[in-house]
Amino acid sequence: MTTVIIIRYSEIYLKGKNRGFFERLLEENISKALKGIKCERVKQSGRYLLDGYDEEDSEEILFRLGRVFGIHDMSVAEKVPSDMDEILRASLNVCEEEGSFKVLCQRADKSFSLNSMEICAEIGGKILEARPNLTVDIHEPDFYVNIDVRENGTSLVFKDRVKGPGGMPVGTAGKGLLLLSGGIDSPVAGHMIAKRGMKVDGMHFHSYPYTNLQAKEKVITLAKKLSPYTSGMTLYIVKVTKIQEEIHKKCNGDYMVTLLRRFMVRIAEIVSQKDGAQCIITGESLGQVASQTIEGMTSTGSATTLPILRPLVGFDKEEIIERAKAIDTFSTSIEPFEDCCTVFLPKHPVIHPRLSDILKEEAKLDVAALVEEAVADIEVLSL
Ligand code: ATP
Ligand code: MG
Repeated sequence: MTTVIIIRYSEIYLKGKNRGFFERLLEENISKALKGIKCERVKQSGRYLLDGYDEEDSEEILFRLGRVFGIHDMSVAEKVPSDMDEILRASLNVCEEEGSFKVLCQRADKSFSLNSMEICAEIGGKILEARPNLTVDIHEPDFYVNIDVRENGTSLVFKDRVKGPGGMPVGTAGKGLLLLSGGIDSPVAGHMIAKRGMKVDGMHFHSYPYTNLQAKEKVITLAKKLSPYTSGMTLYIVKVTKIQEEIHKKCNGDYMVTLLRRFMVRIAEIVSQKDGAQCIITGESLGQVASQTIEGMTSTGSATTLPILRPLVGFDKEEIIERAKAIDTFSTSIEPFEDCCTVFLPKHPVIHPRLSDILKEEAKLDVAALVEEAVADIEVLSL
């Protein structure tokens, strides 16, 4: 049996000039996802056909395409010569043992001897003859038999549509820099924004030797798990040890996290200029911890001119965990390595910081020099 994979994309967003742009990025992302697998891709209206792959690769192909945003659904179809006996044989192959069915037919080959209605009627009748257990239900069938008579003398027969990841092709909605801690939330935030078509790169802050090397490895693992969804990812790893030591030495310790967050976005903004990122993405959720109050978020936001996207702002932890499990980052996120935010953690972090107090604390530091030093020493990984 020879199969092809039909990849369909949602055409809702495709108006006018947008279409070519959307399709080009989707094609690029599909090629990238299928790197190393031999196959040919043919473009048709609203869909692609993948052909010429080894049968044993088909599951891997479906798995990888399940992470390419912009794909609405997929089907594995049997490819047969456009001949009614062959089409019937393939149709019987996709039938369930019992239940009701409906035959659907599309006919691009207008020279084919029967029209689509006639094909449906004939194949439907013959299925009923061959499988007395089955019935026809044109309104609410248990399954469909789909027949697609193509122009090139071949027909495709398939049953299921496997749901794709939906969303928009990554790269159609600009680029953002995800602040990727080792926690549960930030990978989920990156995934959500990538789903809307934004290219996402990552930035992680560590405080070695206060945080250990395993914590860094964990973040690299998380970035690798995200990168099939983001069509590759550049990960910036930034050492903030000196910044934390200086804050610890010179400032009111209760402001540690507040001040550190402001350093994070300043560094992210500088890197964004080279990276082409137009915004910062975080995994913050309102009220989840002391630093995620509206005052905390305002304080962080006022240290950068870039917009900060917080897709999880209105989510409960439970909802975030559910998503983290679905994208397979949860098991990594719960590995127990310390994040830099827990280094020098004060007993009573400020919950409602006021900008005037923050500025008083920051005046005790050489902010520009500390930022410059951290930026000069960034490690860059391409995943
Ligand atoms: P997460 O589960 O994403 O770590 P969290 O609930 O632990 O979130 P915080 O630790 O307060 O919350 O962090 C809030 C957000 O700040 C994170 O979602 C992330 O975007 C960013 N952030 C925090 N620490 C780091 C870090 N070490 N490196 C990069 N980004 C960080
Ligand atoms: Mg965290």
